[in-house]
Amino acid sequence: MTLQSRPWLAEVRRIALGALVLFAVGYLVGSPAIALLVGAIAYLAWHLRQLYLVQQWLAHRKQRPRPEARGVWVPVLDSLERLNRQSRRRKRRLRNFVRRFEHAADAFPDAAVVLRIDGEIVWMNEAATDLLGLRHPQDLNQPISKLIRNPLFVEYIERGRFEEPLAMPSPVDDGDHILVRIVPYGRRHLMLARDTTRLNRLEQIRKDFVANVSHELRSPLTVVVGYLETLSDDEQAPEHWRRPLAQMSQQAHRMVLIVEDLLKLSRIEHSPGEALKNPVPIAEMLEGVRNDALGLSENTHRIHVEAEGGVRLLGDYNELYSAFANLVFNAIQYTPDGGDIWLRWKYSDGGAALEVEDTGIGVEEHHLPRLTERFYRVDKARSREVGGTGLGLAIVKHVLMRHDATLDVRSQLDAGSTFICRFPDSRLEAVEAEEAPAPALENASGG
Ligand code: ADP
Repeated sequence: MTLQSRPWLAEVRRIALGALVLFAVGYLVGSPAIALLVGAIAYLAWHLRQLYLVQQWLAHRKQRPRPEARGVWVPVLDSLERLNRQSRRRKRRLRNFVRRFEHAADAFPDAAVVLRIDGEIVWMNEAATDLLGLRHPQDLNQPISKLIRNPLFVEYIERGRFEEPLAMPSPVDDGDHILVRIVPYGRRHLMLARDTTRLNRLEQIRKDFVANVSHELRSPLTVVVGYLETLSDDEQAPEHWRRPLAQMSQQAHRMVLIVEDLLKLSRIEHSPGEALKNPVPIAEMLEGVRNDALGLSENTHRIHVEAEGGVRLLGDYNELYSAFANLVFNAIQYTPDGGDIWLRWKYSDGGAALEVEDTGIGVEEHHLPRLTERFYRVDKARSREVGGTGLGLAIVKHVLMRHDATLDVRSQLDAGSTFICRFPDSRLEAVEAEEAPAPALENASGG
């Protein structure tokens, strides 16, 4: 017999004994049924009273002591008390954990803010006050976009697409910068903000340094290249000078190309914000790029242009020309003679794409994510041989970024490559019907 079942057996015994006694007394006075009924009512009343006392105790546990209990109510109250103790312990542990978490979150140098799905603030750490100017507790339950009024931030929140972080001016200190990242979890959003002022300054110093060095190198290089050309052309130059002079000339030209590309890159990097939004007739531009490319390839490649009419790209003509020309020149340089190159301009719901496809040497997959890094070359010797600077795709990437576009590269070793520039709908403009018999105009603008 278990400890818990003992009071129940005793209770059953008590009931049986009570019923027997009541029956005997009732029998003696001539109505055993009434005696049993009175006993049952008294028993029920006693249980009801116990139940009431227990309920009152549970409702006001803090003020009331445990009620006197008898019979089966003793194990019931014991179990309730044990549960109560356990739940108090669990609560204490949880409270300590939350306190420790809050201390850790306050020691965190970045701002952390928990938002409801509708953007209202649920919780914030101390750094949120320093970095974002939010006040605790006044700003709790307030919509974050009402407290941080920067238009970039408001648009970021309203758009609700948080794959990319947002770089913006600090809402607290003029001249400072922060990087905001929002991570959805469950039915909440965790917003993190970090001070990037120092990093931005360092990045600016780096950009300025590269721009200044390139600029300073330009004039001396022009002089060196000029003299080298004169010396190379000099009929009276000693024979054993010819090879070194030719090599020096070739390397000096490479340096000029690198300096030119570095300057181009830093010009693009220094241009503030988004690129211009001038309507650019892509089909015509691609014809121009094709002609330049045929000149470079000396007609050893077949270059095809397939451009859909109907939409124009809104952008900066020179920057776009430079980016597309870089892709096509690469296609020529990394495709053996006799190969095919396609330049395609097509649009569909939600945007347009400019593709440069070649049947060239291709690139192994593990190189693809790094191709747009400055000076990243799959095969340094080959790049040098074809006159590459290692900066072409970095320029392409920056131009595309300024046009809200992305670069997608597909390639297979020895099976050719396709470089795809994807432009969003916001960078497209439908051409009027009389200007071009546009196929599916709605596609271009509908997106
Ligand atoms: P580079 O001046 O060396 O061509 P880029 O930045 O233009 O520099 O390109 C980086 C590297 O990407 C190149 O060195 C080359 O290895 C690879 N690459 C670029 N375009 C192609 C292509 N169409 N086919 C094969 N490899 C390419």
